[in-house]
Amino acid sequence: MRGIAAVPSYVVMQPTTLCNLDCVYCYLPLRAADRRMPLTVAEAVAASVNPWAASGRFSVVWHGGEPLAAGREHLAALLAPFGPAVEHHVQTNATLIDDAWCAFFVEHGIRVSVSVDGPRARNGERVTRGGRPAYDRILAGVAALRRHGLPFSALAVVSRPERGLATELYDYFLDLGCDVLGINIEETEGVNTRTNARDAAAVTGFWAELVGAWRRDPRIHLREIEWSLRYAGAVLAGTADDLLPRRLDPIPTVSHDGSVVVLSPELAGFTDPRYGDFSSGNVLTTPLAEILAGAGRTPWVGEFLTGVEACRSSCPYFGFCGGGHAANRYFELGRFDGTETEHCRNSKIRLLEGVLEHARDHESPAA
Ligand code: SF4
Repeated sequence: MRGIAAVPSYVVMQPTTLCNLDCVYCYLPLRAADRRMPLTVAEAVAASVNPWAASGRFSVVWHGGEPLAAGREHLAALLAPFGPAVEHHVQTNATLIDDAWCAFFVEHGIRVSVSVDGPRARNGERVTRGGRPAYDRILAGVAALRRHGLPFSALAVVSRPERGLATELYDYFLDLGCDVLGINIEETEGVNTRTNARDAAAVTGFWAELVGAWRRDPRIHLREIEWSLRYAGAVLAGTADDLLPRRLDPIPTVSHDGSVVVLSPELAGFTDPRYGDFSSGNVLTTPLAEILAGAGRTPWVGEFLTGVEACRSSCPYFGFCGGGHAANRYFELGRFDGTETEHCRNSKIRLLEGVLEHARDHESPAA
């Protein structure tokens, strides 16, 4: 894996900066402001995306802010320029989902992913602008999805990994009815400056316990665990080198104003005296395909690729991780060419260690 691919596998779009919630660990800098994406931005993105979708599977992920806060009418207008081959996804806090939104998802073929951190007592950091728990409103949105028979994914942030939590969470999400689950250990990034330094044994133990909970009833696709097991299987089969893509997926995030930030959506909306606004161009003046073809020349991206090479030559986990996330390096280390971060320790190194710990604890005694 070297350099950045010119064609992504998906594009992240920000229909509005606004979010109706104010979660304690949120990284978004403009979530109190309603800056909406104009239709010209969606039209410009679609001009590049439609040909990509015609020659292979391609997704647009509507992210925010809270994307549903843009309203159905505006979101429908933003969706209109995209051809029928484009798959649409929405990452939502679910609090606005009702019957009308469910009909909208069906009409536009939108796949829904809900942000929820677990049962009420584990969900205390997802709060309204008035600081009140958002849990009941989240569950009302999930109930609407279930009433309409709409499959959905879930994304949970874990701030304090501890013994017993993984089993509790996994059982909760089995009951909730999601078919895919992603787990993020809280990250220090954007406007969230809380430390993410965690006790190594607690995080490794969390992941090991999660493998055990999933293996007892693997009805949910558990993103992190399935990826780790695929990697472990490939190592044993001698095919691990084939798992990472040949080139990094640029994962462009198109901000409400058309500016494009590659590799890390979390950098959008920030500026730095050394790196400027992190953008590689704006779709209102340059086609997205052209921006991505030149993204490797964006100064911070070159520095990040230097960091990836440093990871490759120094880290035994590189084959699993591929060199980490740009935003975590920037927000934790202040630059892009470092290597280990608390994020990669929590979410890559200790994840793989947890899977191995589970395997060691459950290996059959030798015959
Ligand atoms: S685990 Fe951390 S140090 Fe290792 S390759 Fe990934 S980002 Fe780099």
